Amino acid sequence: MPAGVPRPKMMFTPPGPGNPPPVRRDQDEPDQRRSARVDPGVDRPFPPPARPAGVLFDAVLLDRDGTLVEDVPYNGDPEKVRPLPGVREALDRLRAAGLRLGVVTNQSGLARGLFGAADLARVNARVEELLGPFDDWQVCPHDDRAGCRCRKPEPGMVYAASGALGTVPARCVLVGDIGADMVAAGAAGAGAILVPTPVTRPEEIAAAPHVARDLPAAVTEILRRQNALRPTTPRRDRAGTVLVVRSDSAGDVLVTGPAIRAVAAGARKIVLLCGPRGRAAADLLPGIDEVVEWPLPWIDGDPQPVDPDDMRHLTDRLTRLGADEAIIFTSYHQSPLPLALLLRVAGVPTIHAISDDYPGSLLDTRHRVPVGVPEPERALSLAAAAGFALPDHDGPGLRLRPDAVPPPPAELGGPGYVVLHPGSTVQARACPPDLAARIVRVLAEAGHRVVVTGGPHERELTALVAGDLGVDLGGRTGLAGLAAVLTGAGALVVGNTGPAHVAAALGVPVVSLFAPTVPYGQWGPYRVPAVRLGDAGAPCRDTRATSCPVAGHPCLSRLDPADVLAAVRLLDVPADRPPARTGPTVGVAAVAAGPPVGRAVTTSGGSGR
Ligand SMILES: [Zn+2]
Repeated sequence: MPAGVPRPKMMFTPPGPGNPPPVRRDQDEPDQRRSARVDPGVDRPFPPPARPAGVLFDAVLLDRDGTLVEDVPYNGDPEKVRPLPGVREALDRLRAAGLRLGVVTNQSGLARGLFGAADLARVNARVEELLGPFDDWQVCPHDDRAGCRCRKPEPGMVYAASGALGTVPARCVLVGDIGADMVAAGAAGAGAILVPTPVTRPEEIAAAPHVARDLPAAVTEILRRQNALRPTTPRRDRAGTVLVVRSDSAGDVLVTGPAIRAVAAGARKIVLLCGPRGRAAADLLPGIDEVVEWPLPWIDGDPQPVDPDDMRHLTDRLTRLGADEAIIFTSYHQSPLPLALLLRVAGVPTIHAISDDYPGSLLDTRHRVPVGVPEPERALSLAAAAGFALPDHDGPGLRLRPDAVPPPPAELGGPGYVVLHPGSTVQARACPPDLAARIVRVLAEAGHRVVVTGGPHERELTALVAGDLGVDLGGRTGLAGLAAVLTGAGALVVGNTGPAHVAAALGVPVVSLFAPTVPYGQWGPYRVPAVRLGDAGAPCRDTRATSCPVAGHPCLSRLDPADVLAAVRLLDVPADRPPARTGPTVGVAAVAAGPPVGRAVTTSGGSGR
């Protein structure tokens, strides 16, 4: 793995009584690479970070030019350092909240000889004089020609900064003003917030997981998300039997996993009510004692008519559970209220849910969440509102029960292959079959082993896509079997569908072919290295469509397979054979801006970029 940047090992550890304190996957990283660190200014020792329960972020990483200070092209003059409005106060709020601060900045002016290392040190010292101290500085002195692993959009500086700050990328959030900042953060598994300036391209804004007006607004959002996971009224006593509810698909159930673990840590018994399409995912999640499977006609995407007898049977079943409390988890467009009514009829005394609609006497906790919050955090914030937090040894990432995941099939010949999962239960989010087939060819010709997966109804699709160059596992893997295959994968190439969340739960990097029908920041792979591809500004954006409303499915169909190869490279997945033939040169520039249908683009102009 030449010049490889370490990424999380694939480990997953269950919580639960009787088990030794688990090693959290996102803590289990090898020493971070430090070679990106170049004359960063003052070197400071850091105490080991405190990690109170439920904390989302340990550190905030900041781009320098255009984010902290005015962008003066190739500035080597400390007199020209001008902080952007409100930045000092915003940084002080982060410092007061105990967050560590690091700067990650491209300074190709060094490579171009436009200023020297001493000039850079004086400029950075002036930045600290005006904005207060930073706990770490990472500077890339190279230009595009160097092919280094530190120049953003490469993720090297994010790994290096998180290591220097005593944490891991998943517990960092990066704030920057261009697409390269977002790509670098995502490829390392860190959170990211874009603060656009007039030079930020519209496609960079469209592709960003989160966008804030400016740095002070980004800081407000970071602190709001951090605080939302802390119970305002922590519980003194363990709860009894808690019914947790998440209907809908496997992906919906998987992203609720962290919240279910939080409730499980503070309750004697957890019963999950889920739908038939979420059952396989429920069986993979830690912390659940019993599963009740029941389709709910006000949630299901393909609902049956309401059957009064069925509702009576469900109410009887819920009555017999004798739950002391219920927490109804939903997506932002689903209502918890019909079920809350049945639960009241079933005698459940305490009910918590997110509801913008007036709930009358149906809810004891009526929680509200802004639009755009990552789904796992949305659910965790409801658990916190009900008084439940993740224990100290657990983090907010997705996880699976290790005993539920078999080892990868031996026929795949050892780890390191790339898995392509072309299908989706939702057509609007599936990868067009001919494109998927071309992706397999490009990856295989570059020396990657490619494994194609799909459900029982997707055998024709996977056979077409795998062709002669990929291993076709279509119809041979349930969700647990897919997880087994993924434990040996170097990366998963997939649309916005359940397997992306399985990969996230296993720490397997994701190339996300993301149809923008729903927000990426809310539904993208959570706290795992990922690269977003596809046209984020396509007309289907935010339509929540299940069938693509635009002829030709342009958000994904115009994607260039070479961009998938570039993304796999950005995620540091080595090919295990020499390339079959010399193809076009593929650079990370192609994914720098993420969105446009894969045209090679360089990052925006301005200094040090
Ligand atoms: Zn570099």
